Amino acid sequence: MSAQLIKGTEIREQILEEITAEVAQIKEKHGVVPGLVTILVGENPASISYVTLKIKTAHRVGFTEIQDTQPVDISEADLLALIDKYNKDDSINGILVQVPLPKHIDDKKVLNAIDPDKDVDGFHPVNVGRLMIGGDEVKFPPCTPAGIQEMIIRAGVETSGAEVVVVGRSNIVGKPIANMMLQKGKGANATVTIVHTRTKDLAAHCKRADILIVAAGVPDLVKPEWIKPGACVIDVGVNRVGVNEKSGKAILKGDVDFDAAKEIAGCITPVPGGVGPMTITMLMLNTLKSLKFKLGIE
Ligand code: NAD
Repeated sequence: MSAQLIKGTEIREQILEEITAEVAQIKEKHGVVPGLVTILVGENPASISYVTLKIKTAHRVGFTEIQDTQPVDISEADLLALIDKYNKDDSINGILVQVPLPKHIDDKKVLNAIDPDKDVDGFHPVNVGRLMIGGDEVKFPPCTPAGIQEMIIRAGVETSGAEVVVVGRSNIVGKPIANMMLQKGKGANATVTIVHTRTKDLAAHCKRADILIVAAGVPDLVKPEWIKPGACVIDVGVNRVGVNEKSGKAILKGDVDFDAAKEIAGCITPVPGGVGPMTITMLMLNTLKSLKFKLGIE
């Protein structure tokens, strides 16, 4: 039997429509819209394309958006001063600094200079701490994990008491999604295991999972026989495995052997078109939340 596909492309459209409607309501009632600034240093083509997509999406949902491009040789002090300017700017609710930054700039120092109440990426240590505490403390959950949790909720998968196994322990996916799934609340209350490169028997852990979340960055790491029949499989991996000769575009593969896994899983995310589209969507949601916190309506 073929698994239900959880399509990030469709969920993205639903959420962006919800955000657009809420932005219009807030504009009518309070006379303001969320403001998002994206700071890009230099001309890295991948960074330019990410920033362009963020700005385009912000525009689509009715935000005020600023793309602030700085020369590759900007000094660290000048970049910190720029962040300070946006920290103090009342019309800005979200500040993004596109990483990686040039070598002469300390990424960590720059990201930590963002006001935690405008850190819509959710990477500032204050927001990481808030996420760990959970409940009302959480302001901005990091976007990819937030997208994963939202997909699980919208697919109607029961999480309470479920065995969740997370493959990968990175700070941007593995650790935060594991933490989110074990908190009290909607789309959570799960029993969580994190597995990684030093785990002794990866397959045995995966086989126990009612919900298997894979963020390793290894194509086809998860074999079909590791999947519990009927499990929900969330494949976060995005691996470039070649180039399409006709289109010249990269061929992408996830961390799960999709074709075989979909015959065993109850539901599964495809790659591409699964988790990928959710990250920028949740960034928009965090920026809207930031304005709502400021207005006291969240
Ligand atoms: P990372 O390299 O920082 O972390 C990978 C983790 O997987 C590590 O903790 C490592 O211990 C674990 N791992 C690697 N190989 C393993 C193996 N053979 N067995 C067990 N564990 C193993 O990567 P990341 O930033 O967390 O990203 C993971 C994947 O998710 C990548 O493919 C990345 O491109 C993708 N990703 C997608 C999105 C998105 O779709 N929006 C966002 C972030 C990351």
